[in-house]
Amino acid sequence: MFKRLLLPVAFLALGSAATSKAAVYEKDSVAQKVRYVMVIHGGAGTILKSSMTPEKEAAYKAGLTKALQAGYAVLSKGGTSVDAVEAAVEVMEDNPLFNAGKGAVFTNEGRNEMDAAIMNGKTLQAGAVAGVTTIRNPITAARAVMDKSQHVMMVGPGAEKFAKQAGCEIVDPSYFYTEDRWKSLQKVKAADSTQMQLDHDSAVHKPATKLGIENKDHKFGTVGAVAVDKAGNLAAATSTGGMTNKKFGRIGDSPIIGAGTYANNATCAISCTGWGEFFIRLVVAKTVSDLMEYKGMSVEAASAEMIMKQVPQLGGDGGLIAIDKEGNIAMPFNTAGMYRGTVTADGKIEVAIYKN
Ligand code: ASP
Repeated sequence: MFKRLLLPVAFLALGSAATSKAAVYEKDSVAQKVRYVMVIHGGAGTILKSSMTPEKEAAYKAGLTKALQAGYAVLSKGGTSVDAVEAAVEVMEDNPLFNAGKGAVFTNEGRNEMDAAIMNGKTLQAGAVAGVTTIRNPITAARAVMDKSQHVMMVGPGAEKFAKQAGCEIVDPSYFYTEDRWKSLQKVKAADSTQMQLDHDSAVHKPATKLGIENKDHKFGTVGAVAVDKAGNLAAATSTGGMTNKKFGRIGDSPIIGAGTYANNATCAISCTGWGEFFIRLVVAKTVSDLMEYKGMSVEAASAEMIMKQVPQLGGDGGLIAIDKEGNIAMPFNTAGMYRGTVTADGKIEVAIYKN
């Protein structure tokens, strides 16, 4: 569906154009190429139409649409990409369907420990929080770390203290509780109390072996947004509850700048979702940027190299979203589906869940 959008409008108008019109086509295709301004994700994994109810599917699509509308409202008024990605992620953090903010998954100890990061592609400034339990919207705290501190990452109680001082809304940890995620924890613990599980999974993750992993039935519920604003500046944001039954203090890729989140005006803005340990080890987001910067690859080719080749080769799975300054995008995933959506410069919103 998204591929179709990339076809120049001129293509249809010209049909079997004479050779003399070929140059016109070339010119028009550049001028009329669809320009995306924001891409979001709500996690990738074994998301099959056969195991989804129409109501649930509609709820996910509505959640994605609402997040895109929030981001587009900022961008269309000439706001910054940093404000836009924060706004979109905040909407998904407030939606219990996604594994971020309200609806975050539970740790082995029955707590909700969340991670988030944001990055400004113009300045390369970044902010992140990890292992936080009382900040209603962890992405706002990540933003505060970026804007109001001299640091890039703050964790645990220190991050919470800082977020409170910075004016972020603090809530009781019980705010994040949802019955669905609580039941998931009990299920994983009953199956094997030592294993972790990614959001919505129907099976637990076994430890990685040298050759790869033993369980391929994964789903991920992290949320993320990437955007380019009218000034041509890029930004990325990611927020997550991590993995069900994760050990105390476990941090995934999402808040690690360069692993799950990265933005650089010279290349692109990226937000990842997947089995974090693999994304950290491959420094996925920064490597996509490096492939573009040092190897001259397009955003699409660089993203595919990591998600369709490097990550699965190591035994991991997941996906990412990326956008460059020209509004070219990539949304590869090596799983059955990925909750995702795009909005173009003229406000056209599209959301998708499954492969095609
Ligand atoms: N990447 C996240 C983590 O490992 C999980 C996810 O994408 O759902 O914490």
